[in-house]
Amino acid sequence: MTEQLWAPWRLEYIKRADEDPGCIFCAAAEAADEAGLVVRRGERAFVLLNKFPYASGHVMVAPYRHVARFGELLDEEALELHRLAQQTLDALTAVYSPQGYNLGWNLGRIAGAGVVDHVHLHVVPRWAGDTNFMPVLADVKVLPEHLIETRRRLAAAWPV
Ligand SMILES: [Zn+2]
Repeated sequence: MTEQLWAPWRLEYIKRADEDPGCIFCAAAEAADEAGLVVRRGERAFVLLNKFPYASGHVMVAPYRHVARFGELLDEEALELHRLAQQTLDALTAVYSPQGYNLGWNLGRIAGAGVVDHVHLHVVPRWAGDTNFMPVLADVKVLPEHLIETRRRLAAAWPV
């Protein structure tokens, strides 16, 4: 309930999640950085913005490989995902100075995963009274431009 109150655009996402036949992670990996909202590309994994963020700077780290199961990640993929997450925190700290972070894997629909067949790590910056940072009733139509700017700022602040 709380989630719906302050991230109302996620309802749109949930409505559309089952209709879209493609994988958003594979599509983003193949797209240009801006179109795919890709912040950083590694060798085996990449960092992209969540188009339906819980907070500003809500980033996801995913392997390029379309892998459904967490246990199927190769050692090299797991390591790079972890390193990219570390760098993501540095970039987010440089740009937004959040007070904390949630990092998490949502495995399965029941656990909140919108995409269940391509594993991804959520990195969500947190502030005291998060809703102060992003208006509760933010208009979903203004988000794409906002996200493009977020992507640009984070890419520019990348620590390596
Ligand atoms: Zn995929």
